[in-house]
Parts: sequence; structure tokens; C-alpha cells
Amino acid sequence: MERTVVLIKPDAVSKGFIGKIIARFEKEDFLLIAAKFMRLPDDLLDDWYEHHKEKPFFAELKSFMISTPIMAMLWEGKDAIKRVRKLCGPTDATKAPKGTIRGDYGEDVQRNAIHASEDDHAASKEMDLIFLPHEIQEWKR
Ligand code: UDP
Ligand code: MG
Repeated sequence: MERTVVLIKPDAVSKGFIGKIIARFEKEDFLLIAAKFMRLPDDLLDDWYEHHKEKPFFAELKSFMISTPIMAMLWEGKDAIKRVRKLCGPTDATKAPKGTIRGDYGEDVQRNAIHASEDDHAASKEMDLIFLPHEIQEWKR
């Protein structure tokens, strides 16, 4: 089983889409093993988006990401990293097909409803940045 980190971003939180997005993952038989509704600290975002820090959109992205609390979650399932990214759709919500989470709930390339870990390395880094070991439920299955 693989684990991946998902954030429901401020645009989707403020429109009341948390439940609808969670339902997408439950429908695909992923299991929720940790979750918290939290405002991300500024220094955490510096680490999180470290690979984007030279990009022109970095400052705007950070202020968007702290504009409301976000819903941070850890989902578990077979090939979770790749399958969850596929459910999200491409980064630019205006180009994301209907039926994907970004296509259905996102607005544009920044306000795209959701974050999902890109690969193994990102998943373990992001899990450590948000969750303590005792906050993670180990389900037997
Ligand atoms: N982003 C942005 N402007 C851009 C590209 C990306 O604000 O031109 C934001 C967007 O919210 C995106 C995040 O930066 O989800 C991380 O970018 P990345 O290219 O890693 O996309 P993702 O992995 O989220 O699809
Ligand atoms: Mg990325």
C-alpha cells in the first residue's frame, strides 16, 4: 500500500467543496489515515514549494495558500500517488477535463482546488512536514 498527501486548497475550502472532494477518494477505495484542518505556517510553505522558489508566481502562491485554513489529508491505497494525481487532473484547472477534481472544482492554474504529492520522495517529505506518527491511523486490512 502506498500513501500520498492531499491538500484541499483555499479556493475549494472557501466554496464548501471539502466533502465532495473527500467523496471522490472514498469512491475509489482509498482509505483516510490522517487529516487536519489547519492554516499552513509560512516556513512550512517555503519547504513545501522549495522547487518553485525562483518562479515568478511563488509569492502569490504562498499568500493564496495561507489565505484560509486548508484540509490536509493522508490517503492510503494501491498505487495511491499516481492514481490520486490522475483523479486531480492537470495543474491548470482551465485545461483539466470535467470529471477530474481540478476540472470540476478548480478555477485556474493557481486556484486549482487541490494538491497531491508528485512522487515517492515528495509524499514522504510532505507527510513528515504535516503529520506526527501518532496522528496517523494504521488500519488493518
Ligand atoms: N502554480 C501557480 N502558477 C503556475 C503554476 C503553478 O500558481 O504557473 C501553483 C499551483 O497552485 C500549483 C502549484 O503552484 O498546484 C505547484 O505547481 P506544480 O507545477 O508543482 O503543479 P502540481 O504538481 O500542483 O500539479
Ligand atoms: Mg507539483
